[in-house]
Amino acid sequence: MSGPISLHPSLDKGILPAAENFAGGTLVCRCAHDPVEVTIKGQSAHNHACGCTKCWKPEGALFSVVAVVPRESLTVTKNAGKLTVVDPTAVIQRHACRECGVHMYGRIENTKHPFYGLDFIHTELSPQTGWSPPEFAAFVSSIIESGADPTRQGAVRARLRELGLEPYDCLSPALMDFIATHVAKASGVLRA
Ligand SMILES: [Zn+2]
Ligand SMILES: [Zn+2]
Repeated sequence: MSGPISLHPSLDKGILPAAENFAGGTLVCRCAHDPVEVTIKGQSAHNHACGCTKCWKPEGALFSVVAVVPRESLTVTKNAGKLTVVDPTAVIQRHACRECGVHMYGRIENTKHPFYGLDFIHTELSPQTGWSPPEFAAFVSSIIESGADPTRQGAVRARLRELGLEPYDCLSPALMDFIATHVAKASGVLRA
């Protein structure tokens, strides 16, 4: 396979900037009838492309695009009965529409987890524009686990950089430091 690298529909044509004073909006699943609707108060944060095998991505995309919001700011406002947890044993409980399969939000229930209190969302499901744009690419090597051609990884990383998304094979240094700090405080190595 050759030709231009397609990463994700919301990345391929260039990335839209955040709107100033963005107040939030809704996320809507892909069901033609009775879609699930989630309402979010306020702007998203830490938006990024993710190459892991667990995040929801549209058909054919190499990456998902995933951001976080405080869990208090997220409410399921329509058709909550259609939601189901994809894998109840996973750290992030991904609540998906059982009909169209779209993940509406991911929630961490372990209060000791560094990211407890944050819900994971896909802002591409929103009819509103102005959400915080992706800032980096995480778990880039992991796309191979979903079937991506390993020989094209150089081209994938080059395209990510061209879009301003620094590629990492885990999370970004800032988020890895955040996790390590949380762990060090929990173990007592670092004073809280
Ligand atoms: Zn649906
Ligand atoms: Zn992911």
